[in-house]
Amino acid sequence: MQIFETIKALQKELSQLKGKSLGLVPTMGALHQGHLSLIEQSLKDNDHTIISIFVNPTQFNDPKDLEKYPRTLENDCKLIEKLGVDYVFAPTVNEMYPEPDTRIFNYPPQDEVMEGKYRPGHFNGMCQIVSKLFDIANPTRAYFGEKDYQQLIIVKKMVLDLGFDITVVGCPIIREKDGLALSSRNTLLSADERQNALEIPNTLFDSAEYAKEHSLKETLAYVINRINANKKLELQYFEIVDANTLLPISDWKESSSIIGCTAVFCGTVRLIDNIKYKS
Ligand code: AMP
Repeated sequence: MQIFETIKALQKELSQLKGKSLGLVPTMGALHQGHLSLIEQSLKDNDHTIISIFVNPTQFNDPKDLEKYPRTLENDCKLIEKLGVDYVFAPTVNEMYPEPDTRIFNYPPQDEVMEGKYRPGHFNGMCQIVSKLFDIANPTRAYFGEKDYQQLIIVKKMVLDLGFDITVVGCPIIREKDGLALSSRNTLLSADERQNALEIPNTLFDSAEYAKEHSLKETLAYVINRINANKKLELQYFEIVDANTLLPISDWKESSSIIGCTAVFCGTVRLIDNIKYKS
């Protein structure tokens, strides 16, 4: 496995791949089974696979969140080498942003709702880094997790908008055995917080059952009340939305694909999760 820190060295290597397919898995490191599932999918689909590991400062709206974000590059490389990955791209901030990135990406309504509302600038920063990675690596396919469902939809929109010849592949959420969605941020939870965080997937799973017999508005209230009932959790939002526009809907009959998305603080750690009601 080759590890590149500079765009120039990486591009020199990639220029030799003519005619071979390349899968890109963009990550911020602290890799877990969720990331590995994307990597495994890419290894299956492509002749070569490249993993980028870069904690992208422009997508963090909270400097404290950026500071405490786990960084475990050495361990990450050991993990993915075992899988048979060809390349890792782990640039410095200066390599990716020699000049401040002044580009503005607007993908309404999808980038305005939910995460867009609570993390202003997050999707703009995400589009800045993902578009740079797409330009640098020019992959055949790029892999994104449904864990960050809103991100996946916005990346697809960006690919259309900018005319990238790249297939965006969405991969299902990988969860711990007890249901908690894997996240690099889970390592920041205390044992007590970890226990309380379980109420998030438990509520979402139960709500899918509840939804079979109840209206959308009742299901919305069910989730909100149950999360709020746990005093160790602080609900930021739970919305039931059309899975394409990401706009809230008020009746199950309004759309053929419906997803519920949530962000919850567990202590100081912000966790996101989602559940499909109709797909
Ligand atoms: P991150 O390193 O958090 O930026 O995540 C890199 C990629 O891994 C993103 O496309 C995420 O959606 C995906 N990912 C993170 N956690 C999971 C998970 N539990 N299941 C599936 N994909 C995930």
